[in-house]
Amino acid sequence: MTVHKTRMLIIGSGPAGLSAAIYGARAMMEPIVVQGLQPGGQLTITTDVENYPGFKDVIQGPWLMQEMQAQAEHVGTRMMWDTIVDIDLSNGSPFRATGDSGDIYEGETLVIATGAQARWLGVPGEQELGGKGVSACATCDGFFYRGKKVAVIGGGNTAVEEALYLTNHSDDVTLIHRRDELRSERILQERLFKNPKIKVLWNKVVESFEGDPLAGGLTHLSLKDTVTGETSDFAADGAFVAIGHAPSTELFKGKLELDAGGYIVVEPGTPKTAIPGVFACGDVMDHTYRQAVTAAGTGCMAALDAERFLATLEFAKGETQAAE
Ligand SMILES: Cc1cc2nc3c(=O)[nH]c(=O)nc-3n(C[C@H](O)[C@H](O)[C@H](O)COP(=O)(O)OP(=O)(O)OC[C@H]3O[C@@H](n4cnc5c(N)ncnc54)[C@H](O)[C@@H]3O)c2cc1C
Repeated sequence: MTVHKTRMLIIGSGPAGLSAAIYGARAMMEPIVVQGLQPGGQLTITTDVENYPGFKDVIQGPWLMQEMQAQAEHVGTRMMWDTIVDIDLSNGSPFRATGDSGDIYEGETLVIATGAQARWLGVPGEQELGGKGVSACATCDGFFYRGKKVAVIGGGNTAVEEALYLTNHSDDVTLIHRRDELRSERILQERLFKNPKIKVLWNKVVESFEGDPLAGGLTHLSLKDTVTGETSDFAADGAFVAIGHAPSTELFKGKLELDAGGYIVVEPGTPKTAIPGVFACGDVMDHTYRQAVTAAGTGCMAALDAERFLATLEFAKGETQAAE
C-alpha cells in the first residue's frame, strides 16, 4: 500500500477533471488525477464532436480526451490507474481517499469530477449503433441529423426538452413513450403539443435498434405496443434515448449534500461544496448543461478556487506561527 500525497487530488479524468489538472499543475499544485473505470470520461464513447471550441473540422471524442490527458501530463499532472472506493471528508483538509488498488490518496484540496452516465434502454442494437444513429445527447448530436427523421425515447423533462431542441434541425421529430401520458412539466408539454414538427407515439417500447453500424447506421426501431402487444417498425435516421442521467455520486452519499437527482450541491455560480477545500465540477454537479466545454469551464473554476483555498490556509498558518 502506497500513500500518494498532493496539494490537489482530482477524482475523474473527463473534461472537468483534466481541465482542473491543467490549471492546477500550472499553479504548481502537482495534481494527482485518479482516472476511474472510464479514463477520459463520457466523450470516449462517442465519435464525432463538432462543438468543442478550437477545431473547425469534426474531431473524434476519444482523440480529444487523449490530447487533453497529454496536455495535463505535459504540465505536470500525475495520472493514476485506480478507482476511488472510499473517501473521508470528516476531518477537513487533508482529505483521504482509498483506491481500489488499496493505495491511499491524500489531497490538501479535493476536486470531484466523477461525471454522470446517461441512462440507456439496454436493448439490442443500442450499443452497436451508438454514435451511428443512436445517441443520448441531442445538444451534442442533433446537428448531424439536419433535415432528417428522428425519434426521441422517453416521457420526462429530458425527453421533451430533447424533442423540442431537435426541431431546430429536423421537421420530423417523433417522441416515443411507453405510457399514454407524459411525466414532464405542464409547460413543456404545452410547448411540445403545440409544435407542428413533433408527433407522439403513445404506449410503445423500443425492443431493438436496427441497422448496420458499418454501412449507413440506424435504419429503424423495432417497437412493441404496451397495450395490444403488437410489434411494428419505425423508420428513423437518428434516435435519441432521453430517459435521464445518473450522476456518479454513490461515494459521497452522507458525506456531501446531494440534490433530489443525486447531483452534488454547490454554492450557486461556484464549484464550492459546503466543505472548505472540496470542490465539484462538470456533470457531477450540473444537470442543466452537461457539455464538455461547460465541464472544462467548471474544472478550471475548481482549480482556481482550490488554489485560493490553499493560499488562504497557508496565510492563516503563517499568521498563527508569527503570533506564537
Ligand atoms: C454519447 C455522448 C456524446 C456526447 N457528445 C458530446 C459532444 O459532442 N459535445 C459535448 O460538449 N459534450 C458531449 N457529451 C457530453 C460530455 O461528454 C459530458 O458533458 C462531459 O464528458 C462531462 O465531463 P465530466 O468531466 O464532468 O465527466 P465525465 O466525462 O463523465 O467523466 C467522469 C470521470 O470520472 C471518473 N470516475 C467516476 N467515478 C470514479 C471513481 N469512483 N474514482 C475515480 N474516477 C471516477 C470516470 O472514470 C471518468 O473518467 C456527450 C456525452 C455522451 C454520453
